[in-house]
Amino acid sequence: MTGLVVGLGSSRGVRAAAVWSALRAAVPDLTAITAFGTIDRRRDEPGLLAVIREHGAPLHCYPAAELDAVDVPHPSEPVRGHVGTRSVAEAAALLTARDLGGGSLIVPKLRGEHVTVAVAALHPLSISSACTACGACLRTCPEYALRPAPLRPAVIAARCTSCGECVEVCPTDAITLWD
Ligand code: SF4
Ligand code: SF4
Repeated sequence: MTGLVVGLGSSRGVRAAAVWSALRAAVPDLTAITAFGTIDRRRDEPGLLAVIREHGAPLHCYPAAELDAVDVPHPSEPVRGHVGTRSVAEAAALLTARDLGGGSLIVPKLRGEHVTVAVAALHPLSISSACTACGACLRTCPEYALRPAPLRPAVIAARCTSCGECVEVCPTDAITLWD
């Protein structure tokens, strides 16, 4: 399985071993991780970077104001006092999923040793900016799982059976189906 994104928050000086430990507690199958997300100010944090580089999935970083605008299950005012957003891990997981086509939080914030982890599952498929809004996938989907939206079709995740017919019909290869 692929298609999980992990949001990470941490204190300065977090140990890579602590990050690995929290990550394994949240995601039993680490090969399922498609991307990581965190706050801009931790983009150079050695303990986080060591884990992310060894894993190999890309890291998405977001400014505090963008993270703070995300509706999350466990916002924290003390965290905002420290880093300028009420959420890092949960908000970063959701923003990273958004940037990969959309997703839902499946593991809310877990605390490790100076690290927090949250996990979002990507929707079963994502549609990239290569979409020209031709409408072919909308007409093809047997489950009516795609609906018109301003820039590209929106996915109704609960309807999608991952049949792949929309992927086959798309003339610009804009659709990725996660397996
Ligand atoms: S994978 Fe199949 S069910 Fe899902 S959106 Fe595409 S055509 Fe519809
Ligand atoms: S078939 Fe491809 S290009 Fe056409 S609307 Fe669907 S995703 Fe966009």
